[in-house]
Amino acid sequence: MRYRLFTMKIGILPVGRVDLNVLAEVQRGLAKTFPDTACVVVKKILPVPKSAFDKKRNQYSSTAILNEIRVYASQNEMFHRVLGVVDVDIFVAELNYVFGEAYSPGKAALISLWRLKPQFYGENAGSDVFLLRALKESIHEVGHTLGLRHCPRSLCVMHFSNSIFDTDKKQSLLCDQCYLQAALAISSLG
Ligand SMILES: [Zn+2]
Ligand SMILES: [Zn+2]
Repeated sequence: MRYRLFTMKIGILPVGRVDLNVLAEVQRGLAKTFPDTACVVVKKILPVPKSAFDKKRNQYSSTAILNEIRVYASQNEMFHRVLGVVDVDIFVAELNYVFGEAYSPGKAALISLWRLKPQFYGENAGSDVFLLRALKESIHEVGHTLGLRHCPRSLCVMHFSNSIFDTDKKQSLLCDQCYLQAALAISSLG
């Protein structure tokens, strides 16, 4: 029997209570999207850090949560990358909200499901829309950890999402150029 050796191992880390269907979808989708990549859902749940809560904004600091994910990543070296998934509203200082944040390049990334839910926009869409949005944002943030920047092609998953309309418009795929860059970055991990 031959064992396939994966170059990049991604740990998907739930931060607080998170929909398990989303974690499974992200796990499947990331492994499919990035070459030579294995993906596991971490059994442990990282608590949402209380210090990340901003009372005035009634939101959580993305950067504060991301920092905790980075600490987890540095303690769990079997993972080349750790993607945290949280279900609270997150922001960075200069923006009203973000869908995610990542060190670029780096080992840690974060997405929030809060503004990906159809109900948030009063939409009557099914869970497939929600899962697809979560996958796109996950690929996007893991792409950033590999050093990828925002792509000018509006259909590429590395295109910046200013709103949920941009997320819905883009595909859950890297364009050829971004894919090559990701593949190169992954091969240099091995
Ligand atoms: Zn981005
Ligand atoms: Zn691209």
